[in-house]
Amino acid sequence: MSILFPTNGQGERAAFPRALSDFERATLLWLLPEQKAGYKNYRCYIESWHVIGTGRRGEGNFILAPVEPPFGDVTAPDNSAPLAQVFAYGVIEMSAGRISATLREVQEDQLEFEIVNLDGGTIPETFEERRRWSFSEWNPGAQCPMCIQHVREVSIQRIAGNSLTLAMCPSDKRLWIYDGNDGVVHLIPVTNFYNELMMHKRVRDPQIALDSRNLFRDLSSYSDSDLTAAFIGYNALRKKVELGAVAQTEVSRRSFFSKFFSAPPKSWRTGLKP
Ligand SMILES: [Zn+2]
Repeated sequence: MSILFPTNGQGERAAFPRALSDFERATLLWLLPEQKAGYKNYRCYIESWHVIGTGRRGEGNFILAPVEPPFGDVTAPDNSAPLAQVFAYGVIEMSAGRISATLREVQEDQLEFEIVNLDGGTIPETFEERRRWSFSEWNPGAQCPMCIQHVREVSIQRIAGNSLTLAMCPSDKRLWIYDGNDGVVHLIPVTNFYNELMMHKRVRDPQIALDSRNLFRDLSSYSDSDLTAAFIGYNALRKKVELGAVAQTEVSRRSFFSKFFSAPPKSWRTGLKP
């Protein structure tokens, strides 16, 4: 499939506020699946807000805010606040190169996004699309959207509401939580989650506790209830989902092992990454 976007969001960007380019709008809306109720608010922002300036991360990084034409006094982007966490992320793989699209959590009526060529340079005006994937599309039971391999899942049963699913991909070293109430997939920073896990496990050895890369190396040694406890701790500090009371995890480590290692060990170790 060949795609033509005359203004792809990468050039002629001196004047603000401006509307999103067709390519920017289509790409950001793709990150926010319409069939999942939890993405509705963000879709409204994309449909109605304007780009008010650039972010702090260079080319392809812009800030959206609610301004209406005719544009009077437009607040300049606030680039002093801490960078908001990632709300949605996806990649479009072209025949040559990849485009990444990142949308951050809305913060003080500002919404930051980045659409960049992962291999450097500008986004070509036309390109052949090979494949695209985003974490937002993920549902429990599915493979990792990034590497198309098995992920470890931990179901967290809310007392009131649908269950949540914590998912971890050892190959890509990514983790995310799926909210059964609204379908939203929240990406979770590995370091913060790992800190909570280490506190829960009372691990003080700095060689283990300070190196979050160990999470995926040692993933099979953590029970579902360990990982649930770490998520509850993380969510208390940095709320991703409305949690409320949670039912005790009943899944034993043995059942996890038998499920997880039913896949050939080779695929779990090597991954598909180049
Ligand atoms: Zn993966």
